[in-house]
Amino acid sequence: MHEVGITRSIVEICEENARRQGATVVRSVTVEIGELSGVVPDAVEFCFEACSKGTLLEGASLIIDRIPGRGRCDACQAECNLEPHSFECPSCGSMALQRIQGDELRVKEMEID
Ligand SMILES: [Zn+2]
Repeated sequence: MHEVGITRSIVEICEENARRQGATVVRSVTVEIGELSGVVPDAVEFCFEACSKGTLLEGASLIIDRIPGRGRCDACQAECNLEPHSFECPSCGSMALQRIQGDELRVKEMEID
């Protein structure tokens, strides 16, 4: 489960930022996870408590923003929802879909004291 490593780096990034801002505790963290990123939000949620133990994030609430996959077709310029394994444009059947959204994995905001 590579979410352990991902969650650990989320915690590290947040802690570093919080320290830089002189915070003593992090109240909550909002993380954006795209549906096409391959990261399972539930797994991140599951690892968070263990990964944040002993850090400024201990006891913080984790808010996960799930970003749906979106694509644009190079052939007909139509935009569509993208599932993790869809490669075909629903309007014209072309395989020239470009991802425009859904790969996100980033810390969006953090509430500190
Ligand atoms: Zn198309």
